[in-house]
Amino acid sequence: MRRAFGLIEILVVVVVLVLLAAVLVPRLTGGKTPDGKKAKGVITYAKDSVCVQNLRSDRQCIEAAQASDPDGGYPADLSQVREISGELRKCAVGGEPYRYDPATGRISCPHPGHEGF
Ligand SMILES: [Zn+2]
Repeated sequence: MRRAFGLIEILVVVVVLVLLAAVLVPRLTGGKTPDGKKAKGVITYAKDSVCVQNLRSDRQCIEAAQASDPDGGYPADLSQVREISGELRKCAVGGEPYRYDPATGRISCPHPGHEGF
């Protein structure tokens, strides 16, 4: 004779799922460390690395544009560098447009925590 799941078995499964969620959700989305600081989650790390890669790519394009410029000047605007598409001109996390200084050719992200990227 086949028996259906009993109440105890269902409760055990629910408890295991709740424990798994309690462990995994803070790691994915970020949470508090045991000493009370805000921790970055895996998803935040992944988005941060997209911003780092975008800035690296943009810097290479800016250097290439400067190298091909007859006067050796930096492009006056990021839109003049056709290799830099619209999504490469803003932060992958906050969507803020990157800051570009045409005098120095420096590009940076204004998103909090991305200043050093
Ligand atoms: Zn950023």
